[in-house]
Amino acid sequence: MKTLRLILGDQLNLKHPWFNDVDPEVTYLMAEMRQETDYVTHHIQKVVAFFQAMREFSNELKEKGHQVIYLQISSSDNPQALDEIIQNNIEKIKADKFEYQWPDEYRLDQQLIQICQDLSIDSEACDSEHFFTSRYELKDFFEGKKQLVMESFYRMMRKKHDIMMVNGQPDGGKWNYDQSNRKKWKGDPEIPHERGFRKNVTSLVEEIQASGVNTIGTIAPENFNWPTSRADTLSVLNYFCKNLLIHFGDYQDALHTDQYYLFHSRLSFAMNSKMISPKEVIDKVLDHYYEHTDQIHISQVEGFIRQILGWREYMRGIYWKEMPGYKDKNELDNHNKLPDFFWTGDTKMNCLHHAISQSLETSYAHHIQRLMITGNYALLTQTHPDAVDAWYLGIYIDAIEWVEITNTRGMSQFADGGIVATKPYVSSANYINKMSNYCSSCHYSHTKKTEDNACPFNALYWNFLDEKKEHFQNNQRMGMMLNLLNKKDKKELAALKERAQQIIAHPENF
Ligand code: FAD
Ligand code: SF4
Repeated sequence: MKTLRLILGDQLNLKHPWFNDVDPEVTYLMAEMRQETDYVTHHIQKVVAFFQAMREFSNELKEKGHQVIYLQISSSDNPQALDEIIQNNIEKIKADKFEYQWPDEYRLDQQLIQICQDLSIDSEACDSEHFFTSRYELKDFFEGKKQLVMESFYRMMRKKHDIMMVNGQPDGGKWNYDQSNRKKWKGDPEIPHERGFRKNVTSLVEEIQASGVNTIGTIAPENFNWPTSRADTLSVLNYFCKNLLIHFGDYQDALHTDQYYLFHSRLSFAMNSKMISPKEVIDKVLDHYYEHTDQIHISQVEGFIRQILGWREYMRGIYWKEMPGYKDKNELDNHNKLPDFFWTGDTKMNCLHHAISQSLETSYAHHIQRLMITGNYALLTQTHPDAVDAWYLGIYIDAIEWVEITNTRGMSQFADGGIVATKPYVSSANYINKMSNYCSSCHYSHTKKTEDNACPFNALYWNFLDEKKEHFQNNQRMGMMLNLLNKKDKKELAALKERAQQIIAHPENF
């Protein structure tokens, strides 16, 4: 039976059972499309990374003997929309059957269901065989429970998959070493340079530009450093185990003006495009750890495993539990726009200047930059979650809706009213100064409150708590913050609020 099988750009899983045997009756279809480059304005490095990885993947399939139809963004026979691409190629190869892997994005899932309903041939969908959990496993796990808690999901996952368990108990005696994951990095230990690839992607960049795709951010096309094949990915993972894992947990939350990646793995794009599975990453990290227990403390490893086995699977489960309604959630009723400096980095606030400029330059920021710098500012200035989502979805190389929206709208903007996070992640300058060196070279003073050179985060923080306090009355975890707010001198609070209003009205002046 002649079969056409679709491979989406984030389904680059060479280990999928589809590819176990070469079947002359099967043709694979891959397409770069304006449908996917244009639903939000992406970073140029993100578009390049996906197209480059797709091209390398299709070449690998061809080398193994599979038949592949590959449509480049500039191909004259590329209609740029998924429905037409599928229809045209079914006709071209005279397929009797169409098959696809379940997409991770709700939008594409719905589109493919519709496309299949409109086809005159049989169709079938299968698992992408990437995650530890199925789409609705988290939903079933929390069925009947009032509050979703990541920690209980994480413990279930550790037990179920027998990861860092000894005789039914957590290895090391503790489930979670989060408390020891909060060191500030002060120049020591030394951070090895990131594992780079220096790929020349000049012609791909030119092709994308000539096709009229709008992008943000910059790229050094002769020196493209993201992994775009399985071999690249394995080398990033090896590099991480050998050089970075040893300090990963300690400095997981640290921020520094001179260090973009610190001890982070830079594996998110490779995992989200499925060039490697989370199980392979965890197995490799654990193998390395168990061979080096004399050098690597368990807290470094648990901190890393929790991100992948815990948070990553948790976000996917929440996405499928809550979509499509999640996309419209705005529980704090925020309506402001993001300031223009989110697209330039041009602001006197040093932390924002660094986090945004780095994101524009590399398409990457680590989780505390995303959560406690840009996300914190967007929430404190009461920005509409649609605007925040669009920025995060566009700018980061790893941004795919299932993991972007749950982190941004949920964890960072509290727009879901507490499904993902039990309290909003907001802070004044105090936290930023504690975890970074940003404040020491800033135009503003992190200790001042209302003076002209006072850190804007201080006024914004108290103003936010005061304006949104009704939303948090029943939230126990906000009790201490609201108590402090109640005890604030009325005059001081009024002055803080006045300054916050100026910042919100004219962010470009700060
Ligand atoms: P490391 O710090 O080395 O962590 C290892 C891996 O753990 C990551 O590669 C990632 O796969 C996983 N991980 C860590 N934290 C999370 C998390 N909160 N949710 C899911 N997986 C996690 N991650 C994305 O993959 N795509 C996104 O679009 C995305 N948007 C985010 C938006 C906000 C506001 C925040 C706070 C976080 C977001 N994250 C997102 C999570 C996290 O910031 C990135 O996964 C991480 O920075 C990627 O860099 P890394 O590979 O060096 O991660
Ligand atoms: Fe950011 Fe305020 Fe510190 Fe400046 S003083 S770096 S604006 S937190």
